[in-house]
Amino acid sequence: MLKTNLKGFGGYLSSMFQFIKTLAKISWVFLMLCYKKLLKFLNFRLLQCCHKKHLKLLENLLMLGRTSGDIMSIVHDCRKLGENATTSERGDTNLCNGSHMYPNYRKPKVAVVGSGPAGLFASLVLAEFGADVTLMERGQAVEKRGRDIGALVVRRILQEESNFCFGEGGAGTWSDGKLVTRIGRNSGSVLAVLETLVHFGAPQKILVDGKPHLGTDKLVPLLQNFRRYLEELGVNIMFGTRVDDLLVKDEHVVGVKVSDSSNNSSHFTSQKLGYDAVVLAVGHSARDTYQMLLSHGVNLVEKDFAVGLRVEHPQELINSIQYSGLANEVLSGRGKVPVADYKVVEYVNAEDIALPSNSGPINRSCYSFCMCPGGQVVLTSTDPSELCINGMSFSRRSSKWANAALVVTVSSKDFGALDLHGPLAGVEFQRMFERKAAAMGGGNFVLPVQTVTDFLDNKLSVTSLPASSYRLGVRAANLHELFPTHITSSLQQSLLKFDKELPGFISSSALLHGVETRTSSPVQISRSADTYECTSLKGLYPIGEGAGYAGGIVSAAVDGMYSGFALAKSLGLFHGSIESVLGKAQSAGVAKY
Ligand SMILES: Cc1cc2nc3c(=O)[nH]c(=O)nc-3n(C[C@H](O)[C@H](O)[C@H](O)COP(=O)(O)OP(=O)(O)OC[C@H]3O[C@@H](n4cnc5c(N)ncnc54)[C@H](O)[C@@H]3O)c2cc1C
Repeated sequence: MLKTNLKGFGGYLSSMFQFIKTLAKISWVFLMLCYKKLLKFLNFRLLQCCHKKHLKLLENLLMLGRTSGDIMSIVHDCRKLGENATTSERGDTNLCNGSHMYPNYRKPKVAVVGSGPAGLFASLVLAEFGADVTLMERGQAVEKRGRDIGALVVRRILQEESNFCFGEGGAGTWSDGKLVTRIGRNSGSVLAVLETLVHFGAPQKILVDGKPHLGTDKLVPLLQNFRRYLEELGVNIMFGTRVDDLLVKDEHVVGVKVSDSSNNSSHFTSQKLGYDAVVLAVGHSARDTYQMLLSHGVNLVEKDFAVGLRVEHPQELINSIQYSGLANEVLSGRGKVPVADYKVVEYVNAEDIALPSNSGPINRSCYSFCMCPGGQVVLTSTDPSELCINGMSFSRRSSKWANAALVVTVSSKDFGALDLHGPLAGVEFQRMFERKAAAMGGGNFVLPVQTVTDFLDNKLSVTSLPASSYRLGVRAANLHELFPTHITSSLQQSLLKFDKELPGFISSSALLHGVETRTSSPVQISRSADTYECTSLKGLYPIGEGAGYAGGIVSAAVDGMYSGFALAKSLGLFHGSIESVLGKAQSAGVAKY
C-alpha cells in the first residue's frame, strides 16, 4: 500500500517537474521575444529621435543589443545615429562624415602603417566611418608571404621584409592563432572582435569555446576575406611598402616617406605621401621604426617584458600528464578529448636562489607563454645575424610535439646590469641574446638546444638529443650559459616548481630551444588615454603591441578598434562616446595570451 502511494507520489512529482520545466521554457521564449521587441522598438525610436541631448541615453540603451554585433554593424549603428543627429540639428549631411573639417569637402586621409591585427581593425573602423584609408605594409600579402616562409623553412632563405613577423596579418598569421586574452574574455569589445573574425570566416565555435584558437590554415583565408572587404570599402592596400620616416611640419605629422621594401635595389627612390593622420601599428619587431621615432624626439619609455627559452615535449607526454587514463582518447586531435595544453606561472624570489647579492635582480615572475599543443617551433628572426623563435600550430594541432615559451620577466635593472641604458635598452638587451644564440647555434639558423635535465645540471650530454619539431636543425649547446646567472637560475627554479604542478615536466625528452626574446614590446610610446594621439607628436597614433598597448592577437585587435573610434572622433567622423559604444578600454600593456 505504502509502496503504491510512494509510487503515485513519485509520478505526481515527476509530472509537476515536467510542468514547471515546460512553464520555464515558455516564459523564457516569451521573455526573449519581449526583449527583442524592446530592442527593435528602441532602435526605431532612436532613428526617429535625433535630438543631441537624447543621443547619449539612447546609445546606452542600444548597447543592450550591441555586444553581440560585429564591428561593421556597430559602426553602421553609430553612423545612423550621427546622420540623424546632424541632419535634424543643422540640416547638413556633410557634417557627419567629417568633410566640414577638410578643404573642398574631401574625406580625411589616414595612413595606417602595419597590417597586423591592430592595423587591420583600425583600418576597418576608420574606413567604415568614411575616412580615406591607405594601409601600408612592409611585408607581403599572405599568398606571397606563404611562399617566402616556405623558402625560409626549406631553403634557409630569410626575406628580411617578408617572414614570420612581417607581412599581411602581422606576427600572428603563421601562429597557433590562439584567441585567448587576459583583457576580459567576455567583454563587449572582445566579443565584437571575435564576431568580426566570424564574419570573415572564423568558425562560430570561437564565440563559445573556453580557449578558442584558429591555426594558421584558418587564419590565411580569413585574412584574404578581410582584405577583400577593406578593398570594397575603398581602402588602398600597399604591400611591400615600408614607412621609413614621418613628414613633420610645425610639430605635427603631415605624412610619411615610404620605400618599396620588395625592391632590394638601391636605385629605388622613396616617395613622400601626405596624410591628415598616421596610425602606427608596426608590431614589436620594427626596431628601425623605434629608431626613426627617436630621431623625431618621440617619447619612448622602457617597458618590462620577458625572455627565456622554448621548451618542447612529446605531445603524448603532455597528454598523459594532463589526462592520465584519458590520454589515449586524444588521437592526434581527431579524438574525443582535445590535444592537451598547459599554463604555468610561478614567482621566484631570493629564498629560492642562493646567489651573491650583486649578481642582479632576483625576484621575478616565471611563466609559460604561447603554448602550442601539437605544434612546431619556428624561426621569427628578421635579421640573419639574430636568432629568435616562437611557436605555431595548424588547426588540428596534430603534430607529435607540444611547445611553449618558458620566460622570466626582465626590467631596466637587468638592462642596466649589462650597461644598457636609454629608451631602447630593452631592444639592445633582446639583440644581445639573439646574437649570442645565433653564435651558439653555429649559423645558418640552426638553433642551440639542451635537454631540460642537462640545463638543470649545468652540463651538456651531446650524445642523447631528443628529436625537435624545428625544421632548420638543432645543435647541442650550453644554454645555461646564454643568459646572466640570475636569469638562468630563475628559469631553473621555475622548472623545478613547474614539475611539482605537472609531474613529469622535467624529463630527458624535454628539449629547451634558444632563444625566446620577443614576448612583447620592450618600449611604450606615450599616448593620450582619450584620444590615442601620441603625447609628443601631434597627428601620430601609436597602437597595438609595438606601441606597448597590447600583447596577443585579440588585445591588439581591440586596441586597433578603440583607436579607430578615437581617431574617427578627432576627425569629426564620429560624435558619440566611445565608452558607451564599446565599454571601458582595458589596459593591455603587459597583457599576454
Ligand atoms: C610565431 C608567432 C606566434 C604567435 N602566436 C600567437 C597566438 O597564438 N595568439 C596570440 O594572441 N598571439 C600570438 N602571437 C603574438 C601576436 O601575433 C601579436 O601579439 C600580434 O600580432 C600583435 O599585433 P600588432 O598588430 O600590434 O602587430 P603585428 O602583428 O606585429 O603587426 C605589425 C605589422 O607592421 C608591419 N610593419 C612594421 N614596420 C613597418 C613599417 N615601417 N612600414 C610598414 N609596415 C611595417 C609588419 O610587417 C607587421 O605586419 C604570435 C606571434 C608570433 C611571432
